[in-house]
Amino acid sequence: MDAHAQTPLEILQKRFGYESFRQHQLEVINHLVKGEDLFVLMPTGSGKSLCYQIPAMIRPGTGVVISPLIALMQDQVAALRQNGIRAERLNSSLSAAEAAGAVRRVSAGQVDLLYVAPERLFMERFQNLLGKIQVALFAIDEAHCVSQWGHDFRPEYLRIAEVTEAFQGVPRIALTATADAVTRRDIIEKLRLRKARKVVAGFDRPNLRYQVGLKQNVKKQLLDFIQWEHPGESGIVYVRTRKRADEISAWLKTHDVDALPYHAGLDQVLRNRHQRRFDEQPGTVVVATIAFGMGIDKPDVRYVAHLDMPASMEAYYQETGRAGRDGLPADAWMLFSLADVVAMRKLQESGNGDVAFQQVQRRKLDALLGYCETLACRRQVLLGYFGEAFPQPCRNCDNCLQPAAAFDGTLAAQKALSCVYRTGQRFGAAHLTDVLVGNATQRVLSLGHHRIKTFGVGAELSPGQWRSVFRQLLAAGLLTVEITKISGYRLTDKSWPVLRGEEAVRMRSDPPASAPRKKRPPATDRSEIPLDEGDQELFERLRQLRLKIAREQALAPFVVFHDKTLKEMARIKPGSRAAFLTINGVGERKAELYAERFLAVIRDRD
Ligand code: ADP
Ligand code: ZN
Repeated sequence: MDAHAQTPLEILQKRFGYESFRQHQLEVINHLVKGEDLFVLMPTGSGKSLCYQIPAMIRPGTGVVISPLIALMQDQVAALRQNGIRAERLNSSLSAAEAAGAVRRVSAGQVDLLYVAPERLFMERFQNLLGKIQVALFAIDEAHCVSQWGHDFRPEYLRIAEVTEAFQGVPRIALTATADAVTRRDIIEKLRLRKARKVVAGFDRPNLRYQVGLKQNVKKQLLDFIQWEHPGESGIVYVRTRKRADEISAWLKTHDVDALPYHAGLDQVLRNRHQRRFDEQPGTVVVATIAFGMGIDKPDVRYVAHLDMPASMEAYYQETGRAGRDGLPADAWMLFSLADVVAMRKLQESGNGDVAFQQVQRRKLDALLGYCETLACRRQVLLGYFGEAFPQPCRNCDNCLQPAAAFDGTLAAQKALSCVYRTGQRFGAAHLTDVLVGNATQRVLSLGHHRIKTFGVGAELSPGQWRSVFRQLLAAGLLTVEITKISGYRLTDKSWPVLRGEEAVRMRSDPPASAPRKKRPPATDRSEIPLDEGDQELFERLRQLRLKIAREQALAPFVVFHDKTLKEMARIKPGSRAAFLTINGVGERKAELYAERFLAVIRDRD
């Protein structure tokens, strides 16, 4: 390949068919080409892969990409080959013959990019192979897996430093999309990248609209959301348990939503089939546990709906990040309840891990609860968690679009906190609410709580409103829950100034809305403009052709072309190979392979 004589921009345009670099890409590429180590933090969908793919093509030798996502490797390699780039993968899913072929091509110096799972790196045979060839660079993808403080710790990542360091003069680039400040420092330390250049892009995903609602009638809320905002579109619905995944997907199906379950309890064949349907069939909704995640590279996921709270802001950010990779508007939609928080805490505290680890997990969950309950712009809170200031309210989250009604909750807070204190800091929301509203239950009577001062002082609020007050106090750190002994609320240092009347508390009136929304504001990006009827029809036909081509080669359709690219084709209707090449996402190789067939569909559109 003559790539070595080309500049990064030429490769971008000719090989990948893109016009210009996105923010940070060229900077990273230039430093890596020069042989410098890098630590790169860029959000999902921002184009991290090109940052090492292009240098691997420019630097002599083979770029070795270490990734835990075996399920993704096949698509990544296929996508590169579609662009005429010499890529291979080595992992446990290959047959012996396939692996031998890959090794042969690598040994012969015919490969620009080699994808491997971390385990492979520690195999002697593989190290021998690397010793014989020229390594252009090491790319460590999903680098947060090296950190215990991250959300996807993989012990085998800890040894990456030792193996890669042995290759002197070979630059290393670590990439991740999710890492708070602690995790970031930890990654750099564990991978021994202290001298690395750090490129930290913003976390913002401007095309995602964040919405958080309170659980009321979960199924109906979900169905309304899908039917009102995303009929016929692809989405992911996350739930906590396998049983729920089965139940919710079956229920959606009875309401004409093309839903499929995905979780670790399904056998591999079925899981693969569901994944494939999701990739290929527009409008498929996958209802999944977190087992669904590793293999998702689909660019046109229009929403991620959480029916249960994830464990941390990082997990939330990463899971919601699977929506809208194509840059078009998409929704991050979540329902939560206090029961979720308690369930998550129990799960965390029953797990192993030392005390410090559990404390970190717990702070992470608290941060997420704070995010759910906030009255402020969600994007500001989310980005704030990752240490990034977002100066203006975003106008693309529920709190910005429909500000929640708020009230001065100081008095309610004082009553609730004092009730916690007077009942001995041992009880949960249900009992405390009984005491506050003056509900003389058996339990209240037997404990003598009808005789304390706070009995019946809170009759002005309903039990539901008191639950909300407790949730918000917990979210604000004015109460804490000890699960280890008895599940009751305790006061914190922050409770006292409120009790003494030194500090006011603002609260949101319930419920945080999750009702169907108004129409979206008008689109700004050209590719967001809806197609007119004729173009839409052409788009559908181009899609069918794409599916056919994908099937012929056993590829995911988006590996052939993204929806965004097909939409542009439908709108511009190129009449020649040269015009076809101007479409974003069409490189020389793809034009060679497919121009004729797509041009024919465009020509014969009437
Ligand atoms: P990440 O790994 O950061 O999540 P990817 O590398 O998968 O993101 O890129 C996301 C999408 O953006 C891919 O479809 C990729 O082809 C596309 N992309 C990357 N860089 C550019 C660019 N400079 N111009 C247009 N599209 C790009
Ligand atoms: Zn906002």
